[in-house]
Amino acid sequence: MLNEDGTRMDGRRPDELRKIEIEAGVVPVADGSARVQWGTNLAIAAVYGPMEAHPRKISRQDRCVLDVRYNMAPFSVTDRIRPGFNRRSREIGKVTANALESVVQLELYPRSKIRVEIEIMCAEAGTRCVGLTAASVALADAGIPMTDMVVSVASGRVNGVVVLDLNKEEDNYGDADLPMGILPNSGELVFLQMDGDLSPEDFQEAWDYNMGAAKEIHEIMVAALAARYGGDA
Ligand code: ADP
Repeated sequence: MLNEDGTRMDGRRPDELRKIEIEAGVVPVADGSARVQWGTNLAIAAVYGPMEAHPRKISRQDRCVLDVRYNMAPFSVTDRIRPGFNRRSREIGKVTANALESVVQLELYPRSKIRVEIEIMCAEAGTRCVGLTAASVALADAGIPMTDMVVSVASGRVNGVVVLDLNKEEDNYGDADLPMGILPNSGELVFLQMDGDLSPEDFQEAWDYNMGAAKEIHEIMVAALAARYGGDA
């Protein structure tokens, strides 16, 4: 999985991200939207609302609720995925909602809901991170007040070496994966999952890689909003 000179199969250094391109405002009928191309991953996020919370039972007197859905398109991987939600997509929708609830100023919109739809068009590992990052930009594009934008990125371990932003082969054959959701301005953590085992030292290295990368990705997110709205967004 690693070349003799320490680079990875796709030529990246251990601490190097895949290429990331972000565009805001790609779904004209939505209140906010974003497209994130991250390596060969492609995600679109669309935001609708705030709107009245329906069905009534989900409504909260004192705050807005986030209705987040993550879905992989049937054609997003080589084996066709059965359309519709499954355990994995529900879980990712839920952890994404939890992360976004940490930043969206929900108390400003009592009895309301904001619908966040994340569609993975092409999947090549790390799609929960790509989707969460896309949703943050889409929420900002919709003008939803937030204390910060969540940036999500994963590091892991491949052949005993900690590497940033696993690709498909590294995700499949690697030993561990640590996706995180980070608030780049404060360094706070709003989402963390761990697949596999990492020693305390490897965990620290993966953590540091994610923290550093979050700053880099945040700049791309801000630039996408600035490209649409001008100025510093
Ligand atoms: P993440 O995409 O966040 O890394 P996983 O670790 O669950 O989430 O999935 C890793 C990769 O495996 C995905 O990005 C996708 O390429 C592939 N994958 C996930 N679910 C399926 C599925 N049902 N069928 C085929 N490939 C899948």
